[in-house]
Amino acid sequence: MSFANLGLIDSILRTLEALDYREPTPVQKQAIPAVLKGRDVLAAAQTGTGKTAGFALPLLQKLTMEGSQVAANSVRALVLVPTRELAEQVAQAVQQYAQNLPLRTYTVYGGVSINPQMMKLRKGIDLLVATPGRLLDLYRQNAVRFDQLQALVLDEADRMLDLGFAKELDELFCALPRKRQTLLFSATFSDAIRLMAKELLRDPLSIEVSPRNTTAKGVKQWLVTVDKKRKSELLLHLYRERGWDQLLVFAKTRKGVDELEQLLLAEGIAADSIHGDKPQPARLRALQRFKAGEVRVLAATDVAARGLDISELPRVVNLDLPIVAEDYVHRIGRTGRAGATGEAVSLVCADEVELLAAIETLIGQVIRRQDEPGFEPDHRVPVTAPGGAVLKKPKKPKVKLVPGAGARAGQGKIHMGNWFEADDDKPKAKAVRAVPKFGEKPRPKKK
Ligand code: AMP
Repeated sequence: MSFANLGLIDSILRTLEALDYREPTPVQKQAIPAVLKGRDVLAAAQTGTGKTAGFALPLLQKLTMEGSQVAANSVRALVLVPTRELAEQVAQAVQQYAQNLPLRTYTVYGGVSINPQMMKLRKGIDLLVATPGRLLDLYRQNAVRFDQLQALVLDEADRMLDLGFAKELDELFCALPRKRQTLLFSATFSDAIRLMAKELLRDPLSIEVSPRNTTAKGVKQWLVTVDKKRKSELLLHLYRERGWDQLLVFAKTRKGVDELEQLLLAEGIAADSIHGDKPQPARLRALQRFKAGEVRVLAATDVAARGLDISELPRVVNLDLPIVAEDYVHRIGRTGRAGATGEAVSLVCADEVELLAAIETLIGQVIRRQDEPGFEPDHRVPVTAPGGAVLKKPKKPKVKLVPGAGARAGQGKIHMGNWFEADDDKPKAKAVRAVPKFGEKPRPKKK
C-alpha cells in the first residue's frame, strides 16, 4: 500500500517522497484514513514505528483543506507532549511534513524565555506542539486561545494522563472546546489509563498494531547481574571490553546521572547528560551533540526515555532499572527505531529483582541473563520466571552496625513500640522514644 492510497494530497506526497518514506508503517496505514475522516483514535504501536507522521500528516492535510484563517493568538490543532526535548523533536518533524503547505506550525515549552513565544503566537498558529506547563502559563497570560481548536493530540498519552500532569491537564481540558477531535498515541497503555482515556474519546477507533506493551522486535535484550556498588565499574568494563560505541545510559536519579557523567569524563570518555535540573539550553545541546556523534555516552534520567528519535543509536543501557515498568519499554525504544536493530543491556542488582519481575510481566518475556566474569554478585539476584514470578527471595545482606556511629535517617527500627537508631543493638539498646503502654497515662514532660 502506498501513501497515495491513504488519501493524502499531492503536496504531502511530494514531501514524503523527498523524505524517502516509501510506504506507510502499520500504524500510519490505520491512523491516517481514520484521522482524515475526523474520528477519535487511541493508537498503541511500538516505539519508533512512525506515530508522529501517523497523526501529523492527516491533521496537517485537514487544516490545509479547510483553508480557514487562524485568528490572532489562536491555535487550530494542539499536540501535547511530556518533555521539552520531545516537543522540539515533534515540532521539527511537523515542520518537515508541512514544508509544502500554507500553514504555520510552532512549539512552546518551559525552561526558555516566554516572550519570544508570546510574540510568535500573536499571529495565530495552525498546529502547535507544547508541553502542558508552559502552555498553561501562556493561556493564563492570554497569549493563547482555544476557541478555534478542532483537534487535540496527546503524544505519549499514557504519560500525559498519569498523575504527573493531572493538575495542568485538568485546567487545560476545561479551557479546550468540548467538540473536538482527540487522538491518543503511545507505545504503552495500562488498563487504568485506557479506562481514563475512554472518557476523553468519542466513539474512538482503537488501533493496536502489535501485542500490548511489546518492545521493538529488532532490539536484543539482555542483562548482567552485579552488586549495586560495582555497577559503574561494570559499565566501564563492558564499554571498553566490548568496544561499545554510542551509548545512551539511563540512571534512576539526577545525582546518579551527574556522578556517572563525571566518572566517564574522568576516564576520558566524551560524555554529557540530560536531567530535569539542567538548564534547558544545556539539555538541548547535550542531545544535539549526542545525535551528531560528538558525545559517545549520554547519561540521562527518564526525561529522555520517551519518544526521542536518535538515528541509528545502537545501544541503550539501564544502569538502574526504572521504577515504572512501562518506562523500560520506552527507554529501550530509543534504539531499534524505524526497523533498525539495536541492543538493550540492563545492569541488575539484588534490590531490583521486583522491578525486573514487573518489567518481564509487562513485556511478556524473561530477559536473558549473561554473567560477566569478575563481576559475579555477592548478593545473588533471584531467578525470575515467565509471568514475572520471583523464584527465590534474595538473601538479606548482613548490615554491620558500627557502634557509636550516630543516628542515620531511615535506618532505625521499631521494637516493642520503641524506636531504636540503626546503631543500637536491640534488645540491649535504650529506647529513644518511650511509647506509653495501653491505658497508661503519658508521663509529664520534665521541665
Ligand atoms: P516516530 O516513531 O514518529 O518517532 O518515527 C520514527 C522514525 O521513523 C523517524 O525517524 C521517522 O522519520 C521515521 N519514519 C516515520 N514514518 C516513516 C515511513 N513511513 N517510512 C520511513 N521512515 C519513517
